[in-house]
Amino acid sequence: MSRIDPPRQPQAFELWREAQDTRMRTRLGGIYYLLAWLLTWLFSVAPSTQLHLGLAGCVLFALLLLLRLRHRLPSDDTPQALRVWLDRHWILILLTALAWGMTHAHTLNNPAYASSWIIATLSTIAFSTALAFNFSMRKGRAIVALLLLYLPGLAALALHWEEQRATLITLAFYLSYLILALNRSHREYRNTLALELKLLEQQESLEVLSRTDSLTQLGNRYQFNSLFPVMIANAQRQSDPLSLVLLDIDFFKRVNDEHGHACGDACLSAFAERMRQVFRRDSDALLRLGGEEFGVLMPNTPLDQARLLAESFREELATHGFKVKEHHLPLTASLGVGCFDRHRDDSAEAFFKRVDDALYLAKSAGRNRLVLA
Ligand code: GH3
Ligand code: MG
Ligand code: MG
Repeated sequence: MSRIDPPRQPQAFELWREAQDTRMRTRLGGIYYLLAWLLTWLFSVAPSTQLHLGLAGCVLFALLLLLRLRHRLPSDDTPQALRVWLDRHWILILLTALAWGMTHAHTLNNPAYASSWIIATLSTIAFSTALAFNFSMRKGRAIVALLLLYLPGLAALALHWEEQRATLITLAFYLSYLILALNRSHREYRNTLALELKLLEQQESLEVLSRTDSLTQLGNRYQFNSLFPVMIANAQRQSDPLSLVLLDIDFFKRVNDEHGHACGDACLSAFAERMRQVFRRDSDALLRLGGEEFGVLMPNTPLDQARLLAESFREELATHGFKVKEHHLPLTASLGVGCFDRHRDDSAEAFFKRVDDALYLAKSAGRNRLVLA
């Protein structure tokens, strides 16, 4: 898989985790089927008389091994692609189980393997144990695979009931244990997965919280610091205009002094709400950069458009102010507006400083105004 990050969406994550686990666990197993067949054949009564069958078995298990190894995880981890991959990979697992089950039955029925059928039977026990513990992500499919591995051998033993009943009964008992173990292993797998999903969810909400200003619900300084360079890079790559508006409330200290800190807080929330009403595009990033200082990052927005919006915000604020807790608060803000210019701004910091200087000019020129950077 080309990406290292797991997908965030829960359903895609579940499938992604299952596919990763399935891939990792089948990679190891395939070679042992080939080895088990080689041992069973080479330790049979007269391997050379079984030459064709011996080689055919080697080719079959080598081919299945190759198919498993070459079946790489899909490069895109959409639920659809992962589901198709898992379905196909399970076909390979089931085919391998069936091939081994039939091989085992064959050795039990053929006197040529009188000296090595025990190798095949022990291998069947080993394969089915591994299957019950390692492939419990899909219970139904794992049970089918177990039965394909196991039942042909049991049927062959049943044909020789008189001599083989002890082995048959023991193997049948063991099969019942394996099914119980598979059940438990499946439950544990699902529990671990649920836990992992919960952690992922918490991680996500913590990340959102750490980037959100709790008073205004706008993005915070940390969010700005991570967004700003990315947006600049995008603007440079796609030659799209990126505008930045910086807003600072005028004489905000007086609001606190005259009406109290709680009223100041309510004012800041109302200011943010007003920003949301004016800068409404989904792509606009609205931020509280510090105390009573705000910013709007506007991708794909030329300077003129940004200026018009910012000016309408300033005008509306200057005309209506805020009504907070029965007080009518006349309130104004000073604004700096600029558009990223790759010839003038050789860094994100330089661009920010240019707009911040414009804001400073708006302040020193008397406040309640907008200055273009
Ligand atoms: P200027 O026009 O020069 O910007 O004057 P100002 O009073 O707005 O600026 P100054 O930087 O002197 O003061 C900013 C004030 O903002 C001081 C601080 O108490 C207030 N402030 C900062 N953060 C908060 C906050 O979270 N809640 C409240 N209520 N006030 C805050
Ligand atoms: Mg201020
Ligand atoms: Mg300030």
